[in-house]
Amino acid sequence: MNFPDLHRHLGGATHPRILWGYITKHARDSEESLRIRRRFPTYEEFAYEFNRPFHDLADYLTVHHLVEGLQAEDVPYFTHRAVRGAAVFESIDYLELRFNPYKRTPASLPDRDRRALMAEVAGQVIRAARTEFPIQTTFILCMDRGFSVELNRAIIALADALPEVAAVDLAGPYQPGGPTPGEWRELYTEAKARGLKTTAHMAESDPGDIHPHLFPYLDRIGHGIQIALHQPQLLDELAARAICLEVCPTTYLRTNTLQSLSELAVVFARCRGAGVPISIATDNPALHGEAGRIVGQYEGLVRDEVIHFNEILQYAAVGYQYAFRPTHAP
Ligand SMILES: [Zn+2]
Repeated sequence: MNFPDLHRHLGGATHPRILWGYITKHARDSEESLRIRRRFPTYEEFAYEFNRPFHDLADYLTVHHLVEGLQAEDVPYFTHRAVRGAAVFESIDYLELRFNPYKRTPASLPDRDRRALMAEVAGQVIRAARTEFPIQTTFILCMDRGFSVELNRAIIALADALPEVAAVDLAGPYQPGGPTPGEWRELYTEAKARGLKTTAHMAESDPGDIHPHLFPYLDRIGHGIQIALHQPQLLDELAARAICLEVCPTTYLRTNTLQSLSELAVVFARCRGAGVPISIATDNPALHGEAGRIVGQYEGLVRDEVIHFNEILQYAAVGYQYAFRPTHAP
């Protein structure tokens, strides 16, 4: 069978072997690859950085910084390999790939030049995602918690200008600065006014990261498991608004959010009871080992008795149904 995947970051979509192959074969003398080679003399050391235990979500996200600089050197190279791998090795036939266009521009350039390059880089990602394999790819542009209102607004405008981009997301490391809650509401209001779909990383690892003031603006929520675990009274509102949770099981193990996938049983049960749809997704499979592939997510949930084998088709159907560009009948 085939699977949809509604939540995958470009930065976490390329296996370390692909990144290392690029470093050793194609970018011997680039500043970024030299910097990485100095830090990780061998492939084993480089791959360990992806596979090592992480302390928490913040530690986990540091790998994205490592990857983004390298991907900025040759965005088409990494995008093409990520998409064709998803089709061939994971049986994904519908992929929503998300990325921050600003972070795919060279960090060495002045801010003005990086902003001017965002549209070109986003176009490169979109074109490189076309493969001969049977997979449809839709794109989500990530706004960032640490970016100014103005830069995040530029990302919304870019999303609107590119027909292949269906939605915007709120992502990036938690940090001081960045838009206020009121400014996020304004940004999402603008995105909706432009006809874009919306999602936001929320309630992933921290029970304090629950923001009901954004619910009226969201079509989906990235993760949201802490809502079901700690504020289940909010699930009725999510159901009434038909907000779908993008649940990425292996992420919670890798970020030390959960000790076992069996802890998701209460999340799935409460969402089922309240009528909140859940779509099973991968997030950053390159950081999750073999279990990180989409089939691994389903397998882990079945093995730990969070879902029953007979429900696999139903959960896959939810993904197609809540896709930002639905291709299958629900
Ligand atoms: Zn994510």
